[in-house]
Amino acid sequence: MKNWSQKIKWSPSEIHAPKNEADIIRLVQQAADTKKNIRVIGSLHSFNPLWVTNDLVLNLENYQGIIKIDKENLTTTVKAGTTLNLLGDLLFQQGMAMENLGDIDQQTIAGSISTATHGTGLQLGTISTQVIALRFINGKGEAVYCSNQENTDLFKAAQVSLGALGIITEITLQCIPAYRLKLSNRKEDLHTVINSFTERITNNRNFEFYWFPKSNTAWTKTSNLVQDEPDKVGVLNYLTEYVLENYAYQVICETARTIPALSDRLSRFSAALVSTVDKTYHSHKVYATPRLVRFSEMEYNVPLEVYPTVINEIMDLINRNKFNVILPIENRIVQADDAYLSPAYQRNAVYIACHVYYKKDYVPYFKALEEIFLQYDGRPHWAKLHTLTAKELAMKYPKFEAFNQHRMEQDPNGIFMNAYLKKLLILPD
Ligand SMILES: Cc1cc2nc3c(=O)[nH]c(=O)nc-3n(C[C@H](O)[C@H](O)[C@H](O)COP(=O)(O)OP(=O)(O)OC[C@H]3O[C@@H](n4cnc5c(N)ncnc54)[C@H](O)[C@@H]3O)c2cc1C
Repeated sequence: MKNWSQKIKWSPSEIHAPKNEADIIRLVQQAADTKKNIRVIGSLHSFNPLWVTNDLVLNLENYQGIIKIDKENLTTTVKAGTTLNLLGDLLFQQGMAMENLGDIDQQTIAGSISTATHGTGLQLGTISTQVIALRFINGKGEAVYCSNQENTDLFKAAQVSLGALGIITEITLQCIPAYRLKLSNRKEDLHTVINSFTERITNNRNFEFYWFPKSNTAWTKTSNLVQDEPDKVGVLNYLTEYVLENYAYQVICETARTIPALSDRLSRFSAALVSTVDKTYHSHKVYATPRLVRFSEMEYNVPLEVYPTVINEIMDLINRNKFNVILPIENRIVQADDAYLSPAYQRNAVYIACHVYYKKDYVPYFKALEEIFLQYDGRPHWAKLHTLTAKELAMKYPKFEAFNQHRMEQDPNGIFMNAYLKKLLILPD
């Protein structure tokens, strides 16, 4: 098996693709009885070895779709393996939609919430905040239900759980009526964007920007709700989303890899390619764009208040050094929440994501960036590269201990733990 970035490869002894919850329970019981380890995969879009095991792997690709829908209350219960792409279409057919999404829609809903996947918006939390109830199979093979009304403490732990409490089978989401977004992509002066960041995240539903290293250019993406404006989606959208942002970019990345000395110029060239594009369409077709160029990624969030200092230090670091990176740095805002392991726990957080082409060594660049993030109380995205262990993470998450209590109750024999999760969650004696 290998993950999306192709950096993690492993060979479990068994891979199962159950079709229903009864099969999942049977497989968990079998693992518990034979003292085997069991991990579940989504679409393998994480950058950390969250699923690596020599024993059993469950793949939920045959366990997708809507189980229940309540149009009056705008809620739906879905099978955990449903991809965001499929879910967007199924909800749209029912006149409903998810409140917010990230950059792509290839992930499964369970995989997304398990690592606190997020989009951008000052009034919008991570995808885990759209969940109102969950059902999972714990390490004893029992089906456990929790929600924002019932077993609430467990629910707060299960909203972001890295697959450490059990195998999530059903997820109930609070949706909103289907809506359309108008997206504006613009090339702008970097310093103007940074100076107006707070104003833009306050005045727009979704705002984010990318900075191209060694340039003064920001690519801004702003989306707002529209009602009466006609749909606007056409060849130009296709050209930018596929040809410029992917195929042309692949060539640029390969050129920079072959001739590193050209990196700075190629970064500025990429910045120059950003074009003014507008798109007005159904929300689930606006958030996500294709990502065909593979990369390694580190993403930390920092409290909104310190963001201007952090981004200035990062720009200074990159401008002073010769890291030869050309992939841009993405800046997004996420509303505070109260899920125990959410990186946005009790703080509005700006997420800063840094990328390196997958064929290149990312270590020196990410190490230098991580030093800055850590000076400013940064919390890493669970799915993305970082070097923290339980000792540091316990200090960052006030509910770390409470999460671990639930984990030990739900999985007393640790059948869902692997070496990586032990490093993240178990404090040394
Ligand atoms: C190109 C690209 C773009 C991305 N864009 C964004 C973005 O915009 N915003 C963002 O926040 N992140 C983003 N990510 C990260 C991505 O959203 C996360 O890695 C997410 O967890 C991937 O979902 P997945 O279905 O691939 O899950 P996987 O990576 O397969 O699994 C993630 C975790 O979920 C667990 N899991 C999966 N299914 C279950 C289940 N049924 N029960 C219990 N645990 C389960 C796994 O065991 C694992 O611990 C991106 C990643 C890539 C590669």
